[in-house]
Amino acid sequence: MTAADVMERHVHQRLRHDVVLRRLDVLRVERITPHMQRVTLGGAELRGFRSAAPDDHVKLFFPNRDGELVLPRLGPNGPEFPAGREPSPMRDYTPRHHDTARGELVVDFVLHGDGPASCWAEQAAPGQCIGAGGPRGSHVIASDFDRYVLIGDETALPAIGRWLDEMPAGMNATVLVEIPGAADRQVLFSRANVETHWFERDGTQGETLEHALHGLPAIEGDCFWWIATESSRARGMRQWLEQRGVPKDWIKATGYWKADPNED
Ligand SMILES: Cc1cc2nc3c(=O)[nH]c(=O)nc-3n(C[C@H](O)[C@H](O)[C@H](O)COP(=O)(O)OP(=O)(O)OC[C@H]3O[C@@H](n4cnc5c(N)ncnc54)[C@H](O)[C@@H]3O)c2cc1C
Repeated sequence: MTAADVMERHVHQRLRHDVVLRRLDVLRVERITPHMQRVTLGGAELRGFRSAAPDDHVKLFFPNRDGELVLPRLGPNGPEFPAGREPSPMRDYTPRHHDTARGELVVDFVLHGDGPASCWAEQAAPGQCIGAGGPRGSHVIASDFDRYVLIGDETALPAIGRWLDEMPAGMNATVLVEIPGAADRQVLFSRANVETHWFERDGTQGETLEHALHGLPAIEGDCFWWIATESSRARGMRQWLEQRGVPKDWIKATGYWKADPNED
């Protein structure tokens, strides 16, 4: 293998998209498991929506405490909220599925019992409206790894599910997912060769994902490691992999939520 061949292996791509703020309508709501509410969004403003990577995210804007949707305007200095009104709270969510022909965007919300996003999703109903900004970029991971290990808690399930949906036949993936209980398992479709391991918390707060990661048998060939969990856990798993010599560029570990609100 020449130096040029080595250079051309595992090249990720970063795509930038123009940021568009949209007001979207709730078309359908479905409780797919006890802790996951699937909300299908649509409406005229979805036109032109683009999401190129399975772990893209959109900023969703929810009604404020007065029940109003107060969205920012994109000004020369970035998004600006109108003065004198409480801005809509915003949170990051994964475009689980986008159907351009039908004009539909599916978002899966974890119902964890607190916070404007989870509480909104719990009561969501057709006819309501929310705001959506982005995605402003996509990180398209190289498709030439020998294996992809996808590790996450339930907030990562939308990205993992979409990644598996989009993986072509012949790719290899190992999936480690932590969920609240057995009823939160989902049927995950894929054409790829996928080995999925579910870990149920059943009310306990253990380190099941960490133990599963540490106990994985040696992987043959080059492996890409994708991790999305509570942020201190994601950081811990990244460090563990780095300490074992995994190149930084072969790991993407993201904190999807924070248990400690003071954490940076
Ligand atoms: C790139 C990206 C993509 C994401 N995609 C999704 C997605 O598709 N679906 C999804 O459900 N989430 C997703 N998340 C996670 C989601 O943004 C957070 O869970 C967010 O904090 C939820 O906001 P909230 O208003 O419900 O709660 P917050 O107001 O943020 O928090 C309220 C309280 O709930 C706790 N909390 C927040 N999230 C959780 C949780 N998941 N489990 C337990 N306690 C929690 C907080 O510690 C806090 O105490 C994603 C995050 C990122 C960064």
